[in-house]
Amino acid sequence: MSHLPKKPFIFLDFDGTITRADALIAIMEAFGPKGWEKLKQQTLSREISVREGVGAMFSLIPSRQKEKIISFVKKNVKIREGFPDFLDFCKKGKIEYRVISGGLDFYIDPLLKKFVSQENILCNSSDFSSKTIEVLWEYPCDPYCHLDCGFCKLSLIRTCDPGIYWRILVGDSVTDFGAASIVDLVIARDTLLEHCQETGIPVRPFHDFSEVIEAIKQGSD
Ligand SMILES: [Mg+2]
Ligand SMILES: [Zn+2]
Repeated sequence: MSHLPKKPFIFLDFDGTITRADALIAIMEAFGPKGWEKLKQQTLSREISVREGVGAMFSLIPSRQKEKIISFVKKNVKIREGFPDFLDFCKKGKIEYRVISGGLDFYIDPLLKKFVSQENILCNSSDFSSKTIEVLWEYPCDPYCHLDCGFCKLSLIRTCDPGIYWRILVGDSVTDFGAASIVDLVIARDTLLEHCQETGIPVRPFHDFSEVIEAIKQGSD
């Protein structure tokens, strides 16, 4: 990789990317009362913004469920194959990466803490002091983004200098669409893969992290 013109900087989605299944959806399926599915449909079809959708979904869940949700996630949400090897690859190549997730810290941190150090995880915070769970949006949209993301991946990636870095996004879903349009390479599965292919965004598919490593190696040749 010594002939790389720019240093890679990798932005990793969490739900459905680092994890095999979408933890947020799994939580809603297990703990969400009636009404959450309509919010999911409205969010996926972009009828309402991600901020509105995710905020409203968590506001359906009582705060007292916190510990139960954490145990549920630890037991049921699995990390995708090859993720530890990918982290090794980054470490050896001195490649910078950040986990960027519109999910909530209280279930992301317990799953990732043995793999990724805290400063490399950027996500929403959560407040359990009211009756239901409140999302605290720590990374809002900058003045150039009008998508009402809640957690704005676009704005975050914009802070990474394209003059210095080769910016790579690894993701899977509608919450990555905006970010996919401004990075240099997208490595994608599921809806994000289809979206990139349909709109002509350069993309490489992946199923597990060995393919993510390959895509980065190939892209740097
Ligand atoms: Mg995702
Ligand atoms: Zn935004």
